[in-house]
Amino acid sequence: MKILQKGFNYSQDGPGNRLVYHLQGCNFRCKWCSNADAIPIENPAAKDITVNDIYDEILRSRMIFFDGGGVTFTGGECTLQSAELLPLLQKLTESGISTCIETNGSIPALREMAQFIDYLIIDLKHPDNETHTEWTGHSNTQTLENIGFFLNSGRRIHIRIPLIGGVNICPERFAEYFSAFDTSNAVFEFLPYHEYGKDKWQGKYEMENAFVSAETVDKFTRIFNSCGLKTVKT
Ligand code: SF4
Repeated sequence: MKILQKGFNYSQDGPGNRLVYHLQGCNFRCKWCSNADAIPIENPAAKDITVNDIYDEILRSRMIFFDGGGVTFTGGECTLQSAELLPLLQKLTESGISTCIETNGSIPALREMAQFIDYLIIDLKHPDNETHTEWTGHSNTQTLENIGFFLNSGRRIHIRIPLIGGVNICPERFAEYFSAFDTSNAVFEFLPYHEYGKDKWQGKYEMENAFVSAETVDKFTRIFNSCGLKTVKT
């Protein structure tokens, strides 16, 4: 598998203390991406590591998976490497390791993986396909299908919405979309725009005036909660 970086993180990439692997390569081109170095499929900085070596490393780390922790695969888009990720998730599940993935939800194989994912974190940048495609370079059709699949399956799902000024500040539209589902197994989180990863674009960063106010975040929270959608902060 192509791994760009790895490290421990507490609670922001799934429950508890987790060993987090950032996989190289993404099929989206979100203009605000804070991990632009993880987007290209090929990157000399990424290391090729076998499934067995990753599995052994995770097992050696299990003593520090405290507070319900485990392993998280993120990216880039980790499911692009599903041919290796799926059997790895299966082995980890059989060994009793808590598994989490962070995904843009655009790969059909996510459904096959579902049985080996204890905690799914999935992003939705916009419910409307045209706007989604304009800002991410990719359709949201498969993402919406996968979100629907997880909501209907009763599996735990954590839906993250990046709040990007001038792009998706339409809380009513998001809330309307999710209200059509049984969301009792879901939590929602809002991630206000930031520019921490701007330097990784090496002068090609296009976003301007995209910061959002605390009032905007409060408005999203209020509208979601009024529709029975449970919100969290991690
Ligand atoms: S889906 Fe995530 S990793 Fe991929 S371009 Fe968008 S923000 Fe970056």
